[in-house]
Amino acid sequence: MFRSHGAERRTVERFSAAQQVDIVDGTCPQVARLHGMAERASDAGEQLVVVGDRDHPEVRGIVSRASEAIVISSTAEARSVILPEKCCVIAQTTCGRDRFDSIRRILTDRYPGIEVTDTLCREVEARRLALRDLAPCVDAILVVGDRSSSNCRRLFVEARKTGLPSWLVEGPEELPDEIERFVTVGITAGASTPPEVIDAVESAVRGVENRSR
Ligand code: SF4
Repeated sequence: MFRSHGAERRTVERFSAAQQVDIVDGTCPQVARLHGMAERASDAGEQLVVVGDRDHPEVRGIVSRASEAIVISSTAEARSVILPEKCCVIAQTTCGRDRFDSIRRILTDRYPGIEVTDTLCREVEARRLALRDLAPCVDAILVVGDRSSSNCRRLFVEARKTGLPSWLVEGPEELPDEIERFVTVGITAGASTPPEVIDAVESAVRGVENRSR
């Protein structure tokens, strides 16, 4: 099974050529679109540039679709990278809004003609904006999701930026004891968190006796 991050091209080719293998392709459509962009850029002789984490499986999968690629992970790298005239700049879907915007600004300042396509995940972006609306209405925030998930960790960073007490929990069993101190708790979840896990956390929070009442 190819998971949502997508697989590297050689992995797809290896299993596609294998006998007696059933392939389930769970590649997220937004990631598959990036694979297509990388292939087209490579075919057109453009330099593929990916803004993101070079060791992230999604980035490895994108990079594998181009004959060569440059990965930019930080603003420091954006300030020093040397790019050719013809570039296709895209981003890891979970790169993070602040980091992507900062790197984009530096690249477009240094290379005014460069074309940068915003390929951040729409689901992640919607959650980030919803969290901003939620924060003024609650006393604390729970982010539900897998700690190894890039989009969950970034959402947790956004939650902490609000200044409210915030926790990243993988399930109801991880509810912090302090939660009973708060009257109103906001719950959000990463794009990859199964709905039943979110529901279980919500039920557990509703069952907490609030001691501040
Ligand atoms: S974070 Fe968004 S783009 Fe990335 S795999 Fe999940 S839904 Fe797809």
